[in-house]
Amino acid sequence: MPDPNGFLRYDRRLPARRPVPVRISDWREVYPPAGEELIREQATRCMDCGIPFCHDGCPLGNRIPDWNDLVRTGNWDAAVDSLHATNNFPEFTGRLCPAPCEAACVLGLGGQQPVTIKQVEVEIADAAVARDGLRPRPASASTGRSVAVVGSGPAGLAAAQQLARAGHTVTVYERDDAIGGLLRYGIPDFKLEKQHIDKRLAQLTAEGVRFRTGVEVGVDVTAEQLRAEHDAVLLACGALQGRDTPETPGRALRGVHQAMAHLVAANRVVAAAGDGKPAPATLPDGTPIDAAGKHVVIIGGGDTAADCLGVAHRQGAAGVHQLDLYPEPPTERDAARDPWPTWPWVLRNYPAHEEGGERVFAVAVQEFVDDGTGQVRAVRIAEVTVEKVDGRRIVTALPGSEREIPADLVLLAIGFEGTEEQPLLAQFGVIRNGRGAIDSRPDWQATDGVFVAGDMHRGASLIVWAIAEGRAAAAAIHTYLGGVGDLPAPVDPARQPLAAR
Ligand SMILES: Cc1cc2nc3c(=O)[nH]c(=O)nc-3n(C[C@H](O)[C@H](O)[C@H](O)COP(=O)(O)OP(=O)(O)OC[C@H]3O[C@@H](n4cnc5c(N)ncnc54)[C@H](O)[C@@H]3O)c2cc1C
Ligand code: SF4
Repeated sequence: MPDPNGFLRYDRRLPARRPVPVRISDWREVYPPAGEELIREQATRCMDCGIPFCHDGCPLGNRIPDWNDLVRTGNWDAAVDSLHATNNFPEFTGRLCPAPCEAACVLGLGGQQPVTIKQVEVEIADAAVARDGLRPRPASASTGRSVAVVGSGPAGLAAAQQLARAGHTVTVYERDDAIGGLLRYGIPDFKLEKQHIDKRLAQLTAEGVRFRTGVEVGVDVTAEQLRAEHDAVLLACGALQGRDTPETPGRALRGVHQAMAHLVAANRVVAAAGDGKPAPATLPDGTPIDAAGKHVVIIGGGDTAADCLGVAHRQGAAGVHQLDLYPEPPTERDAARDPWPTWPWVLRNYPAHEEGGERVFAVAVQEFVDDGTGQVRAVRIAEVTVEKVDGRRIVTALPGSEREIPADLVLLAIGFEGTEEQPLLAQFGVIRNGRGAIDSRPDWQATDGVFVAGDMHRGASLIVWAIAEGRAAAAAIHTYLGGVGDLPAPVDPARQPLAAR
């Protein structure tokens, strides 16, 4: 039985991050391992609350109190099994998840700091690798049925693993030159070193999953061919259509780019160098997009913007501003607006924010300013208020508040508009809805025999949701193929995060 008084004896503590001057001189992960003593102490803070709302906060339904207690008592093998029972890739979520489970931790009700659930998760995940190197669990018999998975992000990979373990033959088609989706070339190494993806891929390969990279479905292989070769198809193509701002004067200037262009280029350089040393990046057409020595302005306030910030510092930017349309959030939960156990609107400081740069809130870009040669030299901003009227966002500039911020490189990290318009959609007979996503029936089918999961279905979201949807879609495909028994389905297509309204 868990220790009911652990949270009274121990405060919440996380391992120290690597010092800023050290970590911005390389691309290694920001957090060193916590160490067994700290992690067992922190797991002891989980108090056996009886009704663990963290289960509802986590879309995967991770059995958090169970593995906290197993860690507390040093029963690591059982903790690994318990975690893997609900999560195919805890080494990804343990590093990258914003941890809605922690916002729902019952300790938060009494004004206590939540259990460090995510940190315990990553330590268990890494223990699994250290103990048996992610032992493959191949199916004991083949069903003779075959599934094509299009897209190799966390949704596609989770589905592929579930289906292969159930005995189906699974082929993952990926248009990029490497497997992983946004984990591979979107998210920088300082948040997720790519060795973690490679170790999982070795496990999936040993479990029978086949990978075909450099294959764009809809172009290199048609939907018709895929349908002919496989008994079912899962579309997990992500939501990679970057939002733009074509109406802003100066958008076409040199030096104004989509954030993903910068991140992908930087990640590719790190992948190519392989030695963890910073290196210059270029766009696919050879245009340099390195932040070294430049004044960088990042527009946007989410994960993508924070990743650009960390990359800019590692590339040696002269200075970085990060602009946000919205006012600075409070540092504490506003219980009237976001009561426990919902996900609160609070100021989120990513490790990248410790590394430098200036955040500017409640401003909107009025113009990207030309240096006279077609290259951006500044961003003209105005202070703004933002209101929602009939569901529409109304942004009003305050007269006389305009000013310029110097800029040689501007990165647009203002969100995503759903899955890309691409030949595959028409070939499979599916269309983007008003949010740019692909709708599904309650059994995850977008159209007969064609299933959809992850960001392509939900819109740009989180890794934990992608894994949860991949698992649930795999369960639906297993049933569709007449598989024996049920696979776990942690969410249904209509499931939304915990919310007060
Ligand atoms: C910069 C950035 C940072 C992020 N950081 C975090 C974070 O810290 N924590 C977190 O939880 N979430 C984060 N996210 C969100 C998270 O990465 C996504 O929610 C998640 O990767 C979605 O998984 P997915 O499998 O649905 O799609 P994706 O990971 O987008 O993968 C889709 C794959 O489909 C492939 N594809 C598309 N069309 C075709 C085709 N026709 N043929 C073959 N392949 C195709 C694409 O090349 C891609 O590899 C971040 C997102 C971005 C952009
Ligand atoms: S996957 Fe995310 S929400 Fe679930 S337990 Fe881990 S950190 Fe919490």
